[in-house]
Amino acid sequence: MSFSSEVKNELCRISMQRSCCTRAEAYGALLHASVFSHKEIRLSAENTAVVRRLQALLQRAFFVLCEPQQAGRKQQLVITQSGEIGRIFDGLGYDRKSHIAYHLNRNIIEEDCCIAAFLRGAFLMAGTVAGPDKKSHLELKSTRQSLSGEETSLLLELGLSPKQARRGSAWLLYFKDNAGVEDFLTHIGAPHAAMELMEAKVEKNLRNTINRQVNCETANLVKTADAAARQIAAIRAVLESGGEEAFPEALRETVRLRLAYPTDSLAELAQRFDPPISKPGLSHRLKKITEFAIKES
Ligand SMILES: [Zn+2]
Repeated sequence: MSFSSEVKNELCRISMQRSCCTRAEAYGALLHASVFSHKEIRLSAENTAVVRRLQALLQRAFFVLCEPQQAGRKQQLVITQSGEIGRIFDGLGYDRKSHIAYHLNRNIIEEDCCIAAFLRGAFLMAGTVAGPDKKSHLELKSTRQSLSGEETSLLLELGLSPKQARRGSAWLLYFKDNAGVEDFLTHIGAPHAAMELMEAKVEKNLRNTINRQVNCETANLVKTADAAARQIAAIRAVLESGGEEAFPEALRETVRLRLAYPTDSLAELAQRFDPPISKPGLSHRLKKITEFAIKES
């Protein structure tokens, strides 16, 4: 099942308690219907839970009974009876004779509870959201620029900041940031889906941090090995020309230990002295050896 379907199933489980919200949710869905005119209303969806929810919304909000019809992969609710369409138009405060009903009637969505319900209805019909394994993306598609604009304003008033775009003949409002997607889902009544996205993001960040640490440690090991290799090469050059005696007495133990333990880090090598010496002390001696070797060669 796609993540969008998962989210829609969660939204369809919300109980329809307040009549103001039931009407607002139906309104959000109707504005994104395939057809919404004074002659015909046609709502179509693939998700069975969504179709059932739309059916229930129409019945509760407008006393319109409607059976879904199969149309390819989708199911449709089609209303053509003028009395029923009239009840819906009346209920939404539209003029029965008006041909176009794409402007937002703010009287229907005055309360916060109704705004959330309205957006839920719109998302059920026209929304998609990318799953936790993908890049953050949630969009709401509309065939009208004016509707997309009005819904954008509505979201801005809620403190959300959607972006707008055009794709072919469709108008989109969308979120690409994690916080925007999560806030929108929480707002319309899908907190579990929002949490799932949030957890996936936290997990991903944690994985990245661990990878960075591992890379960093590897880089340090390489650095240590490089330094040791340079020191050993310098020592070998001196040994070849003059033997161990070529080194000053004070440096001979360091020469011997460096050659014996070529892969030791500074700290490990310092511990092999008897008695052990400090890391800066060893570093100083190794520097002296390299300088000495350069002078000798
Ligand atoms: Zn309400």
